[in-house]
Amino acid sequence: MGVESHEQVTYFADPDVGLRAIVAIHSTALGPSLGGIRFWRYATEADGLQDVLRLSQAMTMKAAVAGLDQGGGKTVVFWDDPHAARTPEFLRSLGRWIDTLGGRYLAAEDVGASQTDMDGIARETPWVTGVDPARGGSGDPSPVTAFGVLHGMRAGCEVAFGSAELRGRRVAIQGAGHVGACLARLLVDAGASVVIADIDAEKAAAVGVPVVAPDAVMTAECDVVAPCALGGVLTRASVGWLRAGLVCGAANNQLLDDDAADALGERGIVYAPDYVVNAGGIINIAEEWAPGGYSPERAHAAAARIEDTTRRVLALAHDEGIASAHAADELGRRRIAAEGGAPYRPGEWSVMRDALLDRSTRFR
Ligand code: NAD
Repeated sequence: MGVESHEQVTYFADPDVGLRAIVAIHSTALGPSLGGIRFWRYATEADGLQDVLRLSQAMTMKAAVAGLDQGGGKTVVFWDDPHAARTPEFLRSLGRWIDTLGGRYLAAEDVGASQTDMDGIARETPWVTGVDPARGGSGDPSPVTAFGVLHGMRAGCEVAFGSAELRGRRVAIQGAGHVGACLARLLVDAGASVVIADIDAEKAAAVGVPVVAPDAVMTAECDVVAPCALGGVLTRASVGWLRAGLVCGAANNQLLDDDAADALGERGIVYAPDYVVNAGGIINIAEEWAPGGYSPERAHAAAARIEDTTRRVLALAHDEGIASAHAADELGRRRIAAEGGAPYRPGEWSVMRDALLDRSTRFR
């Protein structure tokens, strides 16, 4: 992928604090671009550039399909030592650079980042989300993400098994982290029978449902497999071993390639696309600028709509005879074509702008 597919790609450097970062704004056709800041050790700058271009484009599709008036962006920060602490000066510098984009890019947490980082960045710019809930942020998105996955699973079950009811369904969850553990509890409450696996045995045991071995979870005898750990878990080979009728989980980039999508189709296994069912995280963030400020109740209500979205994606896949992952992309493209406008100019989208500007005073 080249930079020409993006609206804006900006390289920031501040040698005084050791900052090197790239912000990629893929599209602002539906609204300001939103996407996480990834702190990562890249072998080369070209690798970081490829990653930020790919990730920001994926954010455009995710927001479009989720029905949000937002575009897609992403930041990568070249961060060589994962154990090194970030200084307040470093975060302030990053915040100042993000501020120069004038709200065309809204930052959020991603791999390697924390709420503390977002709070540090917020000292210099209003264009940051996922900040301290006590100061107007939306906090940990995982419960809302899990809630959205649960609703996506209902739509998936309807297509795979003829009923959206989760009571009595057998679900195997890979990954007992923030989302996986929360999803397990929601499923138990809904009457499903759940098993879980994690490479960290203590984490799996702490959830309170039967634990299976990490190498056995994807092939467990069950109705639904829910990948909630890593990407790339669905390959032609691994799909061949699945014993579930539905795959629906939070992990990003579950399909290694198109061949894996074809293999799912050939075996008649329904796949609820990852970025459709895990959109609860960005739906949660969008509530930060809703009138009256962030409310967990409203965020959950908005995430419940993932059920309808998943239903529409799976119906389009069925009607057009295409893989569900491609149907999701198609739905995103159609929405941008129908509702997208000219690239965002700083100063537009006044409700969001006013809310974030107002909140920023709490960080100074
Ligand atoms: P997390 O780091 O809290 O949990 C991931 C868990 O998976 C960890 O406990 C880890 O030990 C486990 N794990 C890693 N490899 C494994 C393996 N081979 N087998 C079994 N377990 C394994 O992450 P999270 O926040 O729960 O997110 C889970 C996934 O969902 C990630 O892919 C993330 O990108 C995606 N996601 C999360 C959110 C969110 O709101 N947190 C939103 C959208 C997407």
